[in-house]
Amino acid sequence: MTLANGRPYLAIPGPSVMPDRVLAAMQRPSPNIYEGPLADLTETLWPDLRALAGTAENVAIFIANGHGTWEAANANLFSRGDKALVLATGRFGHGWAESARAMGVEVEMIDFGTSTAIDPARLEAALRADTEGRIRAVLATHVDTSSSVKSDVPALRAAIDAAGHPALLAVDCIATMGCDEYRMDAWGVDVTVAASQKGLMTPPGLGFVWFSEKARAVTARSDLRTPYWDWGPRADAAEFWQYWAGTAPTHHLFALREALDMIGEEGLPNVWNLHKALARTVHVAIDAWGAGNPAIALNVADPAARGHSVTAARFGSPDAARLRQWTETEAGVTLGIGLGQVPADGWLRVAHMGHVNAHMTLGALAVMEAGLKALGIPHGQGALSAAAAVVAAEA
Ligand SMILES: *Cc1c(COP(=O)(O)O)cnc(C)c1O
Repeated sequence: MTLANGRPYLAIPGPSVMPDRVLAAMQRPSPNIYEGPLADLTETLWPDLRALAGTAENVAIFIANGHGTWEAANANLFSRGDKALVLATGRFGHGWAESARAMGVEVEMIDFGTSTAIDPARLEAALRADTEGRIRAVLATHVDTSSSVKSDVPALRAAIDAAGHPALLAVDCIATMGCDEYRMDAWGVDVTVAASQKGLMTPPGLGFVWFSEKARAVTARSDLRTPYWDWGPRADAAEFWQYWAGTAPTHHLFALREALDMIGEEGLPNVWNLHKALARTVHVAIDAWGAGNPAIALNVADPAARGHSVTAARFGSPDAARLRQWTETEAGVTLGIGLGQVPADGWLRVAHMGHVNAHMTLGALAVMEAGLKALGIPHGQGALSAAAAVVAAEA
């Protein structure tokens, strides 16, 4: 017998669960892509996207996933031979660096490993050492989805200012937009990238790049910019097609409109608080299991350095892979694979991003506990009541 029938739950860090309202919004015939409802709807997106990132500045939408937004940012920020200073806290930081390198940008990497946040003092020292001023931009990841490490973005700005360096600050918020608190202007960020399929509850395919006027001015002569990736017309299109450099991503835009309405109805601070509470349920549960088995542990020891949309944890090799297999085939919950951790089959990730609520996360945790029992994996007691207590206290 399997207990997996019923509505499956994809608890991986993107694509996330799509709300029925978002799915329903896409059930329509192809619209006119020159004028009319689609063009009118698009005009309503810009103020909401600015508010989402906490900026009064520019935003461009690319028909792309997260990797596409890295290239979009690189193409606008850099000229061939410019230098990027990349601060990595997991696989995705390295991914942005590889993208920049492949485009002809010289990359200086500071690798903070996979369990600790960026140390702003090392950023400041690297910028002070750049006496020729070759570093055009600092690229950092808010939460690296592979490790679930969160870094303190205002502290990065403060380190750049303390060094007196003109480098722009660009931040990957693909895992955090609409999940963790983020305030682009207040935190002094010049460029922010995000994608549609995580906290924004929309199918993969829309990539967002927010950029300051300062970033636009500093990079006006960047020679990596090509027509498709140029952020200029996308932020200030004279004609509707120029927002997209061609055909609009029609149905994605209806989906995004609905998702932004849902976030607006809930209120962004409430959405942040929900993610914070659900993250805590996962943290206390894994801590409790780990108390009975040293192989089980959260990846990030410092609570302040844990992202609120995804949790990476060690369950031991190959028990993490066995547990993932069990929860999917026996109970209908798909957990995230270990990414960038060694050995990969000793790690897993639980996503709690976007359209999630207490019953979904508590359900996923209960299924994980059932799997630990079914597979005979030793674990400490009290995980589920600890998680329930978090919900009782936060609700
Ligand atoms: C998911 C993710 C990416 C990659 O996005 P894709 O849409 O898979 O290309 C990059 N960075 C972070 C932080 C992510 O969470």
